[in-house]
Amino acid sequence: MPFLLDDVTRCAHILWPLDGAEDWDAPGLSCGDPTQPVYRVHLAVDAVAATVEEAIGVGADLLLTHHPLLLRGVTSVAEDHYKGALISRLIRAGCALLSAHTNADAVSGGVSDILAKRLQLQHTVPITEGAAPGTGIGRVGHLAEPTTLGHLAHTLLALLPSTASGVRVSGDYSAPIHTVALCGGAGDSLLRLPKVLESDVYITSDLRHHPASESREQALCAGGPALIDVSHWASEWLWLEPAAAQLRAALPGLVVTVSELNTDPWSFAVVQ
Ligand SMILES: [Zn+2]
Repeated sequence: MPFLLDDVTRCAHILWPLDGAEDWDAPGLSCGDPTQPVYRVHLAVDAVAATVEEAIGVGADLLLTHHPLLLRGVTSVAEDHYKGALISRLIRAGCALLSAHTNADAVSGGVSDILAKRLQLQHTVPITEGAAPGTGIGRVGHLAEPTTLGHLAHTLLALLPSTASGVRVSGDYSAPIHTVALCGGAGDSLLRLPKVLESDVYITSDLRHHPASESREQALCAGGPALIDVSHWASEWLWLEPAAAQLRAALPGLVVTVSELNTDPWSFAVVQ
């Protein structure tokens, strides 16, 4: 007997409880019949044309993404807009779409937790406490062996999938690093929080000029973290394989595959 979409959705919501999502978020099922059988699930960070075609191409009955395709209010799924075209393509192919977004950021084993584990951080705690113990956004912890900012940047470059933007750093290459704060995805809203300010470095994505500049100047004035800016997609992609393993363990017999397509929107960079 195959699993039904409803079985997989309920399992996902046990692994990544919806009540852990931020208020503005919209994780969960975007399309699909809960009574349809699901033999194969394909995981990706983004629901974009390439990953939708890949999911359909491998015969997936469900595309599970980190980012919700339909996050804001929707008044049309006409196919002259890409979101309508993607939803229609999925529905015609019988492939459901489910997302686990900030609800998958907050949990133990979630997006930031996996990045912290890959960096072998110890004694990690959330930067902001969630409702349940040990849950919340971002993680802060200690490196087993102190390193330098430059070495840590190279470590990140090696463990993340390759992207055009690489790894950008604000701070001295040889600055000593022991305490590391991080937030997979866009984390500039955490820049001024005490646990981030007390860390030697803050790793996140999508840092803009002014928040980064202000953080850098404040660090020069009164102390504060160095910054490492990594690809948003890459920082979240690391979570897919552990998430797939959780689904395989919870639903034995379900085929769960992970997309290796790079859906970082930046194609290339030229550097002087
Ligand atoms: Zn994200």
